[in-house]
Amino acid sequence: MASRHRKYDLLDLLLQAINDDGWSTLYLSDPKSHPFHLKIYNESESYNLRIYIWNLTHGGGRARPADEYRVQITGVNQFEQLENEKTLILGWWREGGVFAGFDYNKHTGILGRSPSIQIREEALRKANTLGISAITKENEEIATAFRPDFIVEYIQNLESLHSFGESASDLAVLEEVTTDPNAVNDAQISSVSQERQTTVTNVRKKIRDNSFKSRILTSYNSRCAFCSVQLKLIDAAHIVPVQHNGTDETSNGIALCALHHRAFDRNLITFNEEYQIIYSEKNFGKLRKIGLDGGADEFIGDLRAVINLPPAIDDRPHVEYVKFANEIRGWN
Ligand SMILES: [Zn+2]
Repeated sequence: MASRHRKYDLLDLLLQAINDDGWSTLYLSDPKSHPFHLKIYNESESYNLRIYIWNLTHGGGRARPADEYRVQITGVNQFEQLENEKTLILGWWREGGVFAGFDYNKHTGILGRSPSIQIREEALRKANTLGISAITKENEEIATAFRPDFIVEYIQNLESLHSFGESASDLAVLEEVTTDPNAVNDAQISSVSQERQTTVTNVRKKIRDNSFKSRILTSYNSRCAFCSVQLKLIDAAHIVPVQHNGTDETSNGIALCALHHRAFDRNLITFNEEYQIIYSEKNFGKLRKIGLDGGADEFIGDLRAVINLPPAIDDRPHVEYVKFANEIRGWN
């Protein structure tokens, strides 16, 4: 019973990580039976997943290296992959809060007696600090380790990530990207084989985005700057948009709940250089004219006078960014 309970905890972790990334989940079969069978989807994409997952445990006696973690495969004779599905073989490193992902294509066929798959602690530790890491094992297998905030990225780029073992030079670029995404330029990325270039670009973008998001959420204590709500409904929004060369500095970001993020993007509300919240009479008026101003009074009434500010002065919205953003968005 105890081990089955642990399986639920692992499923819960997975679902939470996927939901936290803004994706929805559906069970495709009985959630009590392992492997788990899920559909994940957002507005534009969906994946059917068959997920094998175990806890990672340390070492395997004197015959194995000391820095090795492993999943001990139980209750499965053979991994399955059906058409139009992705098969995930995962381990969970409880101590570091990191998943390990193994390549289905290297583990087809009937499994032997007391089967296990290994990953080096180095890869897990790296993923814990950097978000995602890929490391070569024997047989060109790439074991990937990643934090829960990278799970959708891992799923989307699954086959490609595990194929980096086929090229040492491609793998070197990927490793550099995961170590410091800003140290790798576009020329280096175009040196990567065509079929793996998108993955390197995606991973670089995701590392940057996640770093921005986690800094903003930490600075604002995961609260909306306009209404203080938390409830995991918070986005990290750019003040000067990326399209206008807005940077990923914390001082160019603000934490907004889903509602106020939309309202901010639609120019219903903003804040000025004194951090006062202002709303657009003109844009509310336009909605009134077409009879779509329901809730406007409550919405305006619930706004704080000034935005919540991060305690660290350097993290607060930079006045120049606020000024420029309001200019280009037509507030004046
Ligand atoms: Zn809000």
